[in-house]
Amino acid sequence: MSEQTRLLIATRNEGKLQEYEPLLAGLPVMLTNLTREGIDHDVEETGSTFTENAVHKAEEYARISGLLTLADDSGLEVDALGGEPGVHSARYAGPDATDEDRYLLLLEKMRDIPRKDRSARFLCVIAVAEPGATAYTSEGVCEGVIALSPEGSHGFGYDPVFFMPEYVRTMAQLPAETKNRVSHRARASQGIRPVLEKLAGR
Ligand code: IMP
Repeated sequence: MSEQTRLLIATRNEGKLQEYEPLLAGLPVMLTNLTREGIDHDVEETGSTFTENAVHKAEEYARISGLLTLADDSGLEVDALGGEPGVHSARYAGPDATDEDRYLLLLEKMRDIPRKDRSARFLCVIAVAEPGATAYTSEGVCEGVIALSPEGSHGFGYDPVFFMPEYVRTMAQLPAETKNRVSHRARASQGIRPVLEKLAGR
């Protein structure tokens, strides 16, 4: 009997971990995470693009764990702020800030920006690497608008201030099943599925 391949989801972000379970359902892999593997080393995000960061994390955690590894780097690009917070989305508002601190700072910076100029997008790059090998990547994008005030309690991060005109709701007002069909992470996950099918089957 062949043992199912273990796939390390290399994140400490609970919101992301919860999303990956349904997003990767049906693949011939058994999910594990950094806590379960007893890995407390943190790989720094030192790159200047989402792809650089995702690839670096996937390759480093694959090397450390000896497991097939998936890492993502994701964030929010706001046109009126020249693409900010971008790759700095997690550290916006400082190292000890909460999700709420970050989206309130964003709303404050957007205070004088009219509705028509509040376009933004979530981006996610997923990288998958085997130990000692170069990572494969997949990118997903989700377009929206920065809301005038936070709404909703689902999801995580900037979801309460990311308004999706086609649903007339913020991302945080959408049920998890809907977010998991349309989000940047859902789209990147679709693209990486064939890679996981191939690597897990070996
Ligand atoms: P990182 O990918 O762990 O570096 O996190 C990037 C930042 O973007 C964090 O502040 C996240 O909360 C935020 N972020 C990433 N994905 C999402 C999402 O699906 N919804 C809301 N915020 C997100």
